[in-house]
Amino acid sequence: MSALLEVTSISVSFDGFKAINNLSFEIGGQELRAIIGPNGAGKTTFMDIVTGKTRPDEGRVRFGEPQLDLLRLSESQIARAGVGRKFQRPTVFEAQSVRDNLTMALSNDRLPFAVLRYKSSTRDGERVSELAREIGLSEELDRTAGELSHGQKQWLEIGMLLAQDPQLLLVDEPAAGMTLGEREHTTDLLRRAAETRAVVVVEHDMEFVRRLDCKVTVLHEGSVLAEGTLDHVTANSEVIDVYLGR
Ligand code: ADP
Repeated sequence: MSALLEVTSISVSFDGFKAINNLSFEIGGQELRAIIGPNGAGKTTFMDIVTGKTRPDEGRVRFGEPQLDLLRLSESQIARAGVGRKFQRPTVFEAQSVRDNLTMALSNDRLPFAVLRYKSSTRDGERVSELAREIGLSEELDRTAGELSHGQKQWLEIGMLLAQDPQLLLVDEPAAGMTLGEREHTTDLLRRAAETRAVVVVEHDMEFVRRLDCKVTVLHEGSVLAEGTLDHVTANSEVIDVYLGR
């Protein structure tokens, strides 16, 4: 079976500096994957390429079945094709209730949230309750998003992305700033989300990556340095050198 996302030999330079250097990466349809690597390894640029924010100078990015050439699509077309991205800082509508945030996400049908087509139906109501359960915010539906804790806002935003039912969800440092309990909940949420879609998590926190218990890809200088279980990659002498800066 072919991969859901197939990135082949991509490179991109900024002012002559190769941020991504002949990088290839594949992920299957129902897979959870962590991407780790030191600062400047190319993790953000990689996600920018997959979501269409940055165009590579070379290489291919294919997605879905039948395969789409993502390099021919705009950012919003890529989002509509089923690629969701969660940035590090939560972006929810603080003045709106949790219910309204989720309802808006459902009615936006993979459009960027700036374009609001707010309509709600009974079916939406059921789906909103289901999503709230999935993200652990059933008790908070009538509170405004602004009243939520940092962790709860992150879950709400993940819920808003799940509302759009992406086939691939890219998540940037979800554990940053979370309490231990919130991290555990986030791990469960992401693992569950990956039962029906592919989820790629960029994360610095190794304890969190360990809890995700998934295949890990280590990026360094814009290429894949190692891939495998966390124990496997952290035993790799090149990975150790990169992390210890030797
Ligand atoms: P990471 O997310 O792993 O920390 P990035 O993808 O942000 O790494 O960056 C990889 C390298 O590319 C870094 O050296 C960074 O300074 C450089 N870079 C990223 N985006 C740009 C840009 N728009 N212009 C110039 N350099 C950039």
